[in-house]
Amino acid sequence: MNMPRVTTEVLQAIRRSKKPSSKADIVRSTGFSLVTVTEHVETLVRSNLVIEVDMGPSTGGRRPRLLSFNAEAGYIVAVDLETTHVQVGIVDLNCSILASKASDIDVASGPKAVLEHIKEMVFCLLKENEIETSLIKGIGMGVPGPVEYSTGLPASLPIMPGWDRYPIRQFFAQHFQCPCYIDNNVYTMALGERTVELASEIDNLVFLKIGNGIGAGIICNGQIYRGSAECAGDVGHINIGHDVLCYCGNRGCLEAIAGGRAMVRRAEQIARDGQSKILAEILLVKGKLTSGDVKRAVLESDPVVVEMVRECGVLIGNVLANLINFFNPSLVCIGGGFSQIGDLLLASIRQAIYHRSLPLATRNLLIQQSSLGEKAGVIGAAVLTVDEIINDSLKKTASGIFSFY
Ligand SMILES: [Zn+2]
Repeated sequence: MNMPRVTTEVLQAIRRSKKPSSKADIVRSTGFSLVTVTEHVETLVRSNLVIEVDMGPSTGGRRPRLLSFNAEAGYIVAVDLETTHVQVGIVDLNCSILASKASDIDVASGPKAVLEHIKEMVFCLLKENEIETSLIKGIGMGVPGPVEYSTGLPASLPIMPGWDRYPIRQFFAQHFQCPCYIDNNVYTMALGERTVELASEIDNLVFLKIGNGIGAGIICNGQIYRGSAECAGDVGHINIGHDVLCYCGNRGCLEAIAGGRAMVRRAEQIARDGQSKILAEILLVKGKLTSGDVKRAVLESDPVVVEMVRECGVLIGNVLANLINFFNPSLVCIGGGFSQIGDLLLASIRQAIYHRSLPLATRNLLIQQSSLGEKAGVIGAAVLTVDEIINDSLKKTASGIFSFY
């Protein structure tokens, strides 16, 4: 085993422990010898990623030093960009959000305007929380579509004009002296969800995002699965046989019928047809509907809207049933803005999954709403970034030229 990998395992043992660890604790949880643990703990203390916090109780001899992960060795800027809104957080190295801001944006207004707006939000948060820019050790950003991860360049998407291969990293490099990582935000959401206590023990999970579109983040054997062209999980464009045109050019895509954008469009049609009194009144006043309006109509048991949302849940559940038969995950997490529309959507999805999946594949399957809700993307962007910068810093520390200051 090479040196950075052993150091990483020792660090992970310290990070995962709920309380400060002695070297004996680390020996027990990693299986390494005391000599190996001692050597790598010294490297970690030199790097400032691990600090000595206290002395443990004596078991007869000298009291042992207790070690903790230094979550305040620096901060991360984490960004979750959606097509119509953005969330920005300042996050510590334990991926806890210290401060955050959200704002409505239109991703179609192009990368320059959107990134300038995000930069202003970040500077505002840093100022409000009296954090020096030099303490930012990494920037992580999720975007609503495929990304070439090694270069951080987004792929071409019809709903994001001007973003195709836009150098987002170079934009941030003009303002921050730290590395920047860009990924599809459905992958970052899956990573975020995996930090939750129950999911952290799960190595195979599917995170289904129901936002304006629909996409899936796949964790396979504990790692994000990106696929050969880094677009794995693009389940919104699976054909479900309806004759509805999708923006991708095909007909019958799941998200063209059951995605958030489609649900709002269908709700507006229901209102115009006079089938929902509640929605017709809102549409008359506002001129358009939002997910919040659909949620309100469901809460007020408007029968036509309830049926529309139930149908969307069944269509999504049928596609998930196929994914479950194929991939056999232990957890399916339902997240994204439109997943908050109410229990009805989740119940319909769940019912369709149990109806259509193989009994063996669902025997131990958990299906649940994302525990992190709207914070999944920000926390996930931080998880991605912390893992990357720690791996990078340990490589440098092992060669004796770096510490995490
Ligand atoms: Zn499509």
